[in-house]
Amino acid sequence: MTRVVIVGGGPGGYEAALVGSQLGGDVTLVESDGLGGSAVLTDCVPSKTLIATAEVMTGVRASAELGLRFGSTGQGSVDSSVHVDLAAVNRRVLELAKNQSADIVDRVKRENVQIITGRGRLDGPDRVVVESDAGEQTLDADVILLATGARPRELPQARPDGERILTWTQVYELSELPDRLIVVGSGVTGAEFASAYEALGVDVVLVSSRDRVLPGEDADAAQVLEDVFVRRGMTVMSKSRADAVTRDGDKVTVLLTDGREVTGSHCLLAVGSVPNTSGMGLEEAGVDLGRGGFITVDRVSRTSARGIYAAGDCTGVLMLASVAAMQGRIAMWHSLGDAVTPLDMMNVSSNVFTAPEIATVGVTQRQVDAGEVPASSVTLPLAGNARAKMQGSRDGFVKLFCRPATGIVIGGVVVSPRASELIYPISIAVADRLTVDQVSGAFTVYPSLTGSLAEAARRLHGTRSAS
Ligand SMILES: Cc1cc2nc3c(=O)[nH]c(=O)nc-3n(C[C@H](O)[C@H](O)[C@H](O)COP(=O)(O)OP(=O)(O)OC[C@H]3O[C@@H](n4cnc5c(N)ncnc54)[C@H](O)[C@@H]3O)c2cc1C
Repeated sequence: MTRVVIVGGGPGGYEAALVGSQLGGDVTLVESDGLGGSAVLTDCVPSKTLIATAEVMTGVRASAELGLRFGSTGQGSVDSSVHVDLAAVNRRVLELAKNQSADIVDRVKRENVQIITGRGRLDGPDRVVVESDAGEQTLDADVILLATGARPRELPQARPDGERILTWTQVYELSELPDRLIVVGSGVTGAEFASAYEALGVDVVLVSSRDRVLPGEDADAAQVLEDVFVRRGMTVMSKSRADAVTRDGDKVTVLLTDGREVTGSHCLLAVGSVPNTSGMGLEEAGVDLGRGGFITVDRVSRTSARGIYAAGDCTGVLMLASVAAMQGRIAMWHSLGDAVTPLDMMNVSSNVFTAPEIATVGVTQRQVDAGEVPASSVTLPLAGNARAKMQGSRDGFVKLFCRPATGIVIGGVVVSPRASELIYPISIAVADRLTVDQVSGAFTVYPSLTGSLAEAARRLHGTRSAS
């Protein structure tokens, strides 16, 4: 039996463990903090659970237009009629995360994976040493998978205190809504938390070092979101780089590099992640680290050391749970001799869980504008969609890219409520190289938001150049 040792029990690690076991490997999973990893315990699952509550509030806030009134007289406001019990919200968040982690433990044990609680490090290319309260244990391995994830980056002059200066892993300890929350960082994590707390009724200031929020996303989509943020009353400070964050009692101050100061009751730091790769004997075992300490891997998750694979955030390939899981599975398929398709980033769909959501797959507008990929495109505003009108949704659009000569769908962007669900048909089209005619030939329900996807595909019929 091939002895497989996996270090790190997040999606990169536990999904690999399931495949490794399915393929007949003798699999041991080493995890220091809890199965499910940061994805389940501190990052993805908790934030999306918090956002589920925020989504309800977004709907409630928008409901006056649909004829709903608040209070017994119908004269009340949302804020006077609906109270957000943040302690209850956060209890639910943490309970759900704990249960999800327990479900994963059950599942992994059912598949005969041995779980060891402790901190793993390499001792050469084919041995893992695990340190735990019980002492040290050495595991010999034919295949090693490193899936140790990443943790929040901290600024030297902005040390989180867990009370008022917070990382995204600490916000679930809050029992009351912040009076004024300064979110530092306008990438995906910063934008998601800013959107969620704003919906819950918090006065939010979003400090962004760039021209616009979500600098890595489709520029049209980011503009829609920024406009929505501002319209809802959020203060968006662009080209504003935080230098230091200090606390004085119940007040926090964010000092910007240009000397300006922003004050609030709390500060959330969302300035990126650093990989958990130091002090693990990686370089000594022949594992190359690239920029920022991320493990260098190829498209089948191999590192520079024979028999050692890596998956997920510790590789920095694309920090998504879905990508981590796929890299982990690919590592097992490759190392245990199963059929394997290398990771193809063009097929990865992703979503920003703001209100509205932003979902993307395939080629980007930036690639098309830079002339890297020839494409025709059509953008249809959500405001023209019948279902969206009925629901009172105006902010957003559907954008579809196809090859000019063949009409093969190569990418898309959806900005709308539940865009994370609506991107799937485009994702299938991209993965299976469907043409716009094939996409528009399938029935959609009337009225539905997917109707706009089909309509965009229909409009691309016979196009020959970028539009
Ligand atoms: C706020 C936030 C929201 C997110 N939301 C989403 C989302 O909606 N969708 C999405 O796809 N992605 C999301 N992500 C990204 C996603 O959480 C990560 O991409 C995912 O966690 C990566 O999985 P992983 O297995 O690489 O690492 P992790 O989930 O970080 O797991 C790594 C595990 O390894 C353990 N470990 C580390 N070192 C050792 C060691 N030496 N020995 C033993 N164990 C060790 C850690 O304790 C941890 O449990 C979000 C990220 C953040 C920060």
